[in-house]
Amino acid sequence: MRIATIRVYRRDMPLPFVYRWSGGRSLGALDSTLVEVETDTGLIGTGDSCPWGNQYVPAFAGGVRAGLDEIGPALIGADPRCLADINRRMDETLYGHPYVKHAVDVACWDILGQHTDMPIHDLLGGRLIERVRARIGTPSGSPGEMVAQLRERAKQGYFHFSLKVGDEVELDIERLRALADALGPGQTMVADANGGWQPHEAVRVLGSVAGATNIYVEQPCRTYEECLQVRRATALPMILDECIVDVDDLLRAHADKALDILNIKIPRVGGITRCRQIRDLCVSLGIGVYLMDTGNTEIAGAVTMHMAHSTPSRSILGVWDPNDWRQEDIATDIPVAGDGHVWIEGSRPGLGLTFDRKRLGEPVAVYQG
Ligand code: MG
Repeated sequence: MRIATIRVYRRDMPLPFVYRWSGGRSLGALDSTLVEVETDTGLIGTGDSCPWGNQYVPAFAGGVRAGLDEIGPALIGADPRCLADINRRMDETLYGHPYVKHAVDVACWDILGQHTDMPIHDLLGGRLIERVRARIGTPSGSPGEMVAQLRERAKQGYFHFSLKVGDEVELDIERLRALADALGPGQTMVADANGGWQPHEAVRVLGSVAGATNIYVEQPCRTYEECLQVRRATALPMILDECIVDVDDLLRAHADKALDILNIKIPRVGGITRCRQIRDLCVSLGIGVYLMDTGNTEIAGAVTMHMAHSTPSRSILGVWDPNDWRQEDIATDIPVAGDGHVWIEGSRPGLGLTFDRKRLGEPVAVYQG
Protein backbone atom coordinates (compact mmCIF):
# COMPACT_ATOMS: atom_id res chain seq x y z
CA MET A 1 0.00 0.00 0.00
CA ARG A 2 1.40 3.37 -1.02
CA ILE A 3 0.40 6.99 -0.53
CA ALA A 4 -0.89 8.24 -3.90
CA THR A 5 -2.31 11.69 -3.11
CA ILE A 6 -2.39 14.14 -0.22
CA ARG A 7 -5.07 16.85 -0.21
CA VAL A 8 -5.01 19.84 2.13
CA TYR A 9 -8.12 21.82 3.15
CA ARG A 10 -8.54 24.97 5.20
CA ARG A 11 -11.39 25.28 7.67
CA ASP A 12 -12.35 28.47 9.55
CA MET A 13 -13.89 27.78 12.93
CA PRO A 14 -15.26 30.77 14.83
CA LEU A 15 -15.54 30.42 18.62
CA PRO A 16 -18.87 31.41 20.20
CA PHE A 17 -17.07 34.17 22.15
CA VAL A 18 -13.66 35.83 22.45
CA TYR A 19 -11.51 33.53 24.60
CA ARG A 20 -9.10 35.40 26.89
CA TRP A 21 -6.13 34.09 28.84
CA SER A 22 -3.03 35.33 30.64
CA GLY A 23 -0.81 38.07 29.27
CA GLY A 24 -3.68 39.84 27.49
CA ARG A 25 -3.89 37.07 24.88
CA SER A 26 -7.23 36.45 23.17
CA LEU A 27 -8.78 34.46 20.33
CA GLY A 28 -12.08 34.70 18.45
CA ALA A 29 -11.69 31.99 15.79
CA LEU A 30 -9.60 28.93 15.01
CA ASP A 31 -8.00 28.17 11.64
CA SER A 32 -7.75 24.43 11.11
CA THR A 33 -5.91 22.55 8.36
CA LEU A 34 -7.37 19.18 7.38
CA VAL A 35 -5.32 16.59 5.52
CA GLU A 36 -6.61 13.66 3.46
CA VAL A 37 -4.06 10.96 2.69
CA GLU A 38 -5.30 8.68 -0.10
CA THR A 39 -3.62 5.39 -0.91
CA ASP A 40 -3.29 3.47 -4.17
CA THR A 41 -5.89 1.03 -2.77
CA GLY A 42 -8.45 3.81 -2.35
CA LEU A 43 -8.34 4.02 1.45
CA ILE A 44 -8.50 7.62 2.74
CA GLY A 45 -7.05 8.61 6.10
CA THR A 46 -7.89 11.98 7.63
CA GLY A 47 -5.96 14.14 10.07
CA ASP A 48 -5.78 17.78 11.00
CA SER A 49 -3.80 20.38 12.88
CA CYS A 50 -5.58 23.25 14.59
CA PRO A 51 -3.31 25.56 16.60
CA TRP A 52 -4.85 27.62 19.41
CA GLY A 53 -4.20 30.87 17.54
CA ASN A 54 -0.74 32.38 17.10
CA GLN A 55 0.07 33.32 20.69
CA TYR A 56 -0.15 30.05 22.63
CA VAL A 57 2.81 27.83 21.64
CA PRO A 58 5.28 27.98 18.72
CA ALA A 59 2.64 26.89 16.18
CA PHE A 60 0.38 28.78 13.80
CA ALA A 61 -2.10 27.87 11.07
CA GLY A 62 -0.07 29.36 8.22
CA GLY A 63 2.87 27.30 9.45
CA VAL A 64 0.87 24.07 9.13
CA ARG A 65 0.18 24.67 5.44
CA ALA A 66 3.71 25.94 4.70
CA GLY A 67 5.16 22.89 6.46
CA LEU A 68 2.91 20.50 4.55
CA ASP A 69 4.23 22.07 1.35
CA GLU A 70 7.68 20.84 2.41
CA ILE A 71 6.83 17.34 3.66
CA GLY A 72 3.88 16.46 1.39
CA PRO A 73 5.90 15.59 -1.74
CA ALA A 74 8.36 13.47 0.32
CA LEU A 75 5.55 11.18 1.47
CA ILE A 76 4.23 10.17 -1.94
CA GLY A 77 4.99 6.47 -2.45
CA ALA A 78 5.53 5.72 1.26
CA ASP A 79 3.55 2.99 3.03
CA PRO A 80 1.21 4.87 5.43
CA ARG A 81 0.91 1.81 7.70
CA CYS A 82 4.60 2.06 8.59
CA LEU A 83 4.36 4.92 11.05
CA ALA A 84 8.04 4.89 12.03
CA ASP A 85 9.01 5.28 8.38
CA ILE A 86 6.43 8.04 7.85
CA ASN A 87 7.82 9.97 10.83
CA ARG A 88 11.41 9.36 9.71
CA ARG A 89 10.63 10.77 6.26
CA MET A 90 8.96 13.82 7.79
CA ASP A 91 11.87 14.43 10.20
CA GLU A 92 14.44 14.10 7.42
CA THR A 93 12.54 16.57 5.24
CA LEU A 94 11.75 19.19 7.88
CA TYR A 95 13.50 19.74 11.21
CA GLY A 96 11.10 20.36 14.09
CA HIS A 97 7.57 21.72 13.54
CA PRO A 98 5.81 18.78 15.24
CA TYR A 99 2.36 20.41 14.90
CA VAL A 100 2.69 20.13 11.09
CA LYS A 101 3.64 16.44 11.20
CA HIS A 102 0.77 15.73 13.61
CA ALA A 103 -1.82 16.02 10.81
CA VAL A 104 -0.06 13.45 8.60
CA ASP A 105 0.70 11.08 11.48
CA VAL A 106 -2.98 11.04 12.49
CA ALA A 107 -4.16 10.41 8.90
CA CYS A 108 -1.77 7.46 8.62
CA TRP A 109 -3.01 5.96 11.93
CA ASP A 110 -6.53 6.34 10.52
CA ILE A 111 -5.45 4.31 7.48
CA LEU A 112 -3.75 1.65 9.63
CA GLY A 113 -6.95 1.28 11.65
CA GLN A 114 -9.15 0.97 8.56
CA HIS A 115 -6.73 -1.50 6.99
CA THR A 116 -6.69 -3.73 10.09
CA ASP A 117 -10.37 -3.10 10.93
CA MET A 118 -9.39 -1.91 14.41
CA PRO A 119 -10.06 1.35 16.25
CA ILE A 120 -6.91 3.34 16.97
CA HIS A 121 -7.26 2.83 20.74
CA ASP A 122 -7.03 -0.95 20.20
CA LEU A 123 -3.94 -0.46 18.05
CA LEU A 124 -2.48 1.56 20.94
CA GLY A 125 -2.96 -1.28 23.42
CA GLY A 126 -6.69 -1.66 24.03
CA ARG A 127 -9.54 0.09 25.76
CA LEU A 128 -8.26 0.42 29.34
CA ILE A 129 -10.82 2.99 30.52
CA GLU A 130 -14.46 3.23 29.45
CA ARG A 131 -15.30 6.86 30.20
CA VAL A 132 -12.74 9.61 30.79
CA ARG A 133 -13.18 12.57 33.13
CA ALA A 134 -13.63 15.87 31.29
CA ARG A 135 -11.73 18.95 32.37
CA ILE A 136 -13.78 22.01 31.56
CA GLY A 137 -12.33 25.48 31.11
CA THR A 138 -13.52 28.74 32.62
CA PRO A 139 -12.01 31.57 30.56
CA SER A 140 -10.56 34.55 32.43
CA GLY A 141 -13.00 37.04 33.90
CA SER A 142 -13.87 38.70 37.18
CA PRO A 143 -14.06 36.37 40.22
CA GLY A 144 -17.86 36.68 40.15
CA GLU A 145 -18.07 35.84 36.44
CA MET A 146 -15.79 32.85 36.85
CA VAL A 147 -17.75 31.50 39.82
CA ALA A 148 -20.97 31.87 37.79
CA GLN A 149 -19.40 29.94 34.88
CA LEU A 150 -18.21 27.20 37.21
CA ARG A 151 -21.69 26.82 38.75
CA GLU A 152 -23.27 26.71 35.30
CA ARG A 153 -20.84 24.00 34.20
CA ALA A 154 -21.40 22.07 37.45
CA LYS A 155 -25.13 22.03 36.65
CA GLN A 156 -24.23 20.38 33.33
CA GLY A 157 -22.50 17.57 35.26
CA TYR A 158 -18.87 18.68 35.11
CA PHE A 159 -16.81 18.30 38.29
CA HIS A 160 -13.22 18.99 37.22
CA PHE A 161 -12.48 22.57 36.21
CA SER A 162 -9.66 24.54 34.66
CA LEU A 163 -9.38 28.07 35.93
CA LYS A 164 -7.46 30.43 33.66
CA VAL A 165 -5.24 32.68 35.80
CA GLY A 166 -1.80 34.24 35.33
CA ASP A 167 -2.73 37.93 35.42
CA GLU A 168 -2.32 40.54 38.14
CA VAL A 169 -1.48 38.94 41.51
CA GLU A 170 -4.22 40.50 43.66
CA LEU A 171 -6.89 39.63 41.09
CA ASP A 172 -5.64 36.06 40.79
CA ILE A 173 -5.66 35.63 44.56
CA GLU A 174 -9.26 36.84 44.62
CA ARG A 175 -10.22 34.51 41.76
CA LEU A 176 -8.53 31.47 43.25
CA ARG A 177 -10.06 31.95 46.68
CA ALA A 178 -13.55 32.58 45.24
CA LEU A 179 -13.42 29.51 43.03
CA ALA A 180 -11.92 27.29 45.73
CA ASP A 181 -14.81 28.31 48.01
CA ALA A 182 -17.32 27.57 45.24
CA LEU A 183 -16.09 23.99 44.74
CA GLY A 184 -18.42 21.36 46.17
CA PRO A 185 -17.64 17.86 47.43
CA GLY A 186 -15.92 15.75 44.78
CA GLN A 187 -15.08 18.81 42.67
CA THR A 188 -11.49 19.75 41.84
CA MET A 189 -9.82 22.56 39.95
CA VAL A 190 -6.64 23.28 38.03
CA ALA A 191 -5.25 26.81 38.31
CA ASP A 192 -3.70 27.09 34.85
CA ALA A 193 -1.57 30.21 34.42
CA ASN A 194 -0.36 29.31 30.90
CA GLY A 195 3.03 30.68 31.90
CA GLY A 196 1.62 34.07 32.84
CA TRP A 197 3.27 34.56 36.24
CA GLN A 198 6.80 35.41 37.24
CA PRO A 199 8.01 33.03 39.99
CA HIS A 200 7.54 35.52 42.85
CA GLU A 201 3.97 36.18 41.67
CA ALA A 202 3.17 32.48 41.46
CA VAL A 203 4.51 31.87 44.96
CA ARG A 204 2.29 34.64 46.38
CA VAL A 205 -0.86 33.46 44.59
CA LEU A 206 -0.37 29.79 45.40
CA GLY A 207 0.49 30.66 49.00
CA SER A 208 -2.99 32.17 49.34
CA VAL A 209 -4.54 28.71 48.95
CA ALA A 210 -1.81 26.73 50.71
CA GLY A 211 -3.23 23.59 52.27
CA ALA A 212 -6.07 23.27 49.72
CA THR A 213 -6.64 19.64 48.76
CA ASN A 214 -8.83 20.33 45.72
CA ILE A 215 -6.48 22.52 43.65
CA TYR A 216 -3.69 21.69 41.19
CA VAL A 217 -1.39 24.25 39.57
CA GLU A 218 -0.42 24.14 35.89
CA GLN A 219 2.43 25.84 34.01
CA PRO A 220 2.73 28.75 36.44
CA CYS A 221 5.57 30.42 34.51
CA ARG A 222 6.78 30.47 30.93
CA THR A 223 10.09 28.61 31.23
CA TYR A 224 10.84 25.20 32.70
CA GLU A 225 13.41 26.69 35.11
CA GLU A 226 10.89 29.18 36.49
CA CYS A 227 8.29 26.43 36.94
CA LEU A 228 10.86 24.35 38.81
CA GLN A 229 11.55 27.28 41.14
CA VAL A 230 7.80 27.54 41.92
CA ARG A 231 7.49 23.78 42.29
CA ARG A 232 10.05 23.90 45.11
CA ALA A 233 8.03 26.57 46.93
CA THR A 234 4.52 25.06 46.81
CA ALA A 235 2.92 21.88 48.08
CA LEU A 236 0.17 21.92 45.43
CA PRO A 237 0.45 19.14 42.81
CA MET A 238 2.36 20.51 39.80
CA ILE A 239 1.22 20.00 36.21
CA LEU A 240 3.59 21.00 33.42
CA ASP A 241 2.21 21.75 29.96
CA GLU A 242 3.72 24.14 27.40
CA CYS A 243 7.38 23.69 28.44
CA ILE A 244 7.50 19.90 27.82
CA VAL A 245 7.63 19.04 24.13
CA ASP A 246 9.67 15.84 23.86
CA VAL A 247 11.12 12.85 25.70
CA ASP A 248 14.30 14.75 26.64
CA ASP A 249 12.22 17.44 28.37
CA LEU A 250 10.22 14.81 30.24
CA LEU A 251 13.29 12.90 31.43
CA ARG A 252 14.91 16.08 32.68
CA ALA A 253 11.72 17.11 34.52
CA HIS A 254 11.43 13.65 36.07
CA ALA A 255 15.05 13.72 37.23
CA ASP A 256 14.46 17.18 38.79
CA LYS A 257 11.19 15.99 40.41
CA ALA A 258 9.65 19.00 38.66
CA LEU A 259 6.17 17.58 38.01
CA ASP A 260 3.44 15.26 39.21
CA ILE A 261 1.35 15.40 36.05
CA LEU A 262 2.01 16.20 32.38
CA ASN A 263 -0.59 17.87 30.18
CA ILE A 264 0.17 16.47 26.72
CA LYS A 265 -1.21 18.51 23.84
CA ILE A 266 -0.97 15.88 21.12
CA PRO A 267 -0.13 18.28 18.22
CA ARG A 268 2.57 19.94 20.32
CA VAL A 269 4.49 16.67 20.54
CA GLY A 270 3.89 15.73 16.89
CA GLY A 271 1.03 13.23 16.63
CA ILE A 272 -0.12 9.89 17.95
CA THR A 273 3.24 8.13 17.43
CA ARG A 274 5.20 10.63 19.54
CA CYS A 275 2.40 11.10 22.06
CA ARG A 276 2.26 7.39 22.73
CA GLN A 277 5.99 7.34 23.47
CA ILE A 278 5.69 10.20 25.98
CA ARG A 279 2.42 8.92 27.47
CA ASP A 280 3.82 5.43 28.01
CA LEU A 281 6.95 6.84 29.63
CA CYS A 282 4.77 8.88 32.01
CA VAL A 283 2.81 5.74 32.93
CA SER A 284 6.04 3.86 33.65
CA LEU A 285 7.44 6.73 35.73
CA GLY A 286 4.26 7.21 37.78
CA ILE A 287 3.49 10.61 36.25
CA GLY A 288 -0.21 11.31 35.62
CA VAL A 289 -1.32 12.68 32.25
CA TYR A 290 -3.95 14.91 30.74
CA LEU A 291 -4.52 14.33 27.03
CA MET A 292 -5.72 17.20 24.89
CA ASP A 293 -5.58 18.83 21.50
CA THR A 294 -5.01 22.51 20.77
CA GLY A 295 -8.15 22.77 18.62
CA ASN A 296 -11.72 21.58 18.96
CA THR A 297 -12.32 19.77 15.68
CA GLU A 298 -14.04 16.39 15.41
CA ILE A 299 -10.66 14.84 14.51
CA ALA A 300 -8.97 16.46 17.51
CA GLY A 301 -11.65 14.98 19.73
CA ALA A 302 -11.34 11.50 18.27
CA VAL A 303 -7.52 11.50 18.48
CA THR A 304 -7.64 12.67 22.09
CA MET A 305 -10.14 9.98 23.03
CA HIS A 306 -8.25 7.15 21.30
CA MET A 307 -5.14 8.14 23.28
CA ALA A 308 -7.19 8.50 26.46
CA HIS A 309 -9.04 5.17 26.16
CA SER A 310 -5.73 3.36 25.77
CA THR A 311 -4.23 4.92 28.92
CA PRO A 312 -4.43 3.06 32.27
CA SER A 313 -7.31 4.58 34.27
CA ARG A 314 -5.10 5.44 37.24
CA SER A 315 -2.73 7.44 35.03
CA ILE A 316 -5.24 9.60 33.16
CA LEU A 317 -6.43 12.70 34.98
CA GLY A 318 -8.73 13.93 32.23
CA VAL A 319 -9.34 15.28 28.74
CA TRP A 320 -10.62 18.57 27.43
CA ASP A 321 -14.18 18.02 26.19
CA PRO A 322 -13.29 18.50 22.53
CA ASN A 323 -16.85 19.14 21.37
CA ASP A 324 -17.09 22.26 23.47
CA TRP A 325 -17.47 25.52 21.52
CA ARG A 326 -17.57 23.96 18.03
CA GLN A 327 -20.40 25.56 16.08
CA GLU A 328 -20.60 23.36 12.99
CA ASP A 329 -19.80 19.68 12.40
CA ILE A 330 -18.35 18.12 9.27
CA ALA A 331 -18.32 14.60 10.74
CA THR A 332 -20.60 12.23 12.65
CA ASP A 333 -19.81 9.39 15.04
CA ILE A 334 -17.84 11.89 17.14
CA PRO A 335 -16.95 11.29 20.82
CA VAL A 336 -19.84 11.60 23.26
CA ALA A 337 -19.90 13.78 26.39
CA GLY A 338 -22.14 13.49 29.43
CA ASP A 339 -22.09 13.53 33.25
CA GLY A 340 -18.68 15.20 33.25
CA HIS A 341 -17.10 12.45 31.13
CA VAL A 342 -16.19 11.89 27.48
CA TRP A 343 -16.01 8.61 25.56
CA ILE A 344 -16.14 6.98 22.13
CA GLU A 345 -19.22 4.89 21.43
CA GLY A 346 -18.61 1.56 19.70
CA SER A 347 -15.45 0.36 18.02
CA ARG A 348 -15.36 1.62 14.45
CA PRO A 349 -12.01 1.21 12.68
CA GLY A 350 -9.38 3.97 12.55
CA LEU A 351 -10.50 7.31 13.93
CA GLY A 352 -14.08 6.02 13.68
CA LEU A 353 -15.42 9.26 12.20
CA THR A 354 -17.79 9.54 9.25
CA PHE A 355 -17.08 12.68 7.20
CA ASP A 356 -19.42 14.74 5.09
CA ARG A 357 -16.65 15.34 2.57
CA LYS A 358 -18.75 17.73 0.47
CA ARG A 359 -18.40 20.22 3.31
CA LEU A 360 -14.61 20.36 2.96
CA GLY A 361 -14.83 22.55 -0.14
CA GLU A 362 -11.92 22.70 -2.56
CA PRO A 363 -8.40 21.70 -1.45
CA VAL A 364 -5.88 24.52 -1.01
CA ALA A 365 -3.02 22.15 -1.95
CA VAL A 366 -2.69 18.72 -3.56
CA TYR A 367 0.48 16.56 -3.64
CA GLN A 368 0.70 13.50 -5.85
CA GLY A 369 3.24 11.40 -7.71
MG1 MG B 1 -2.51 24.27 30.25
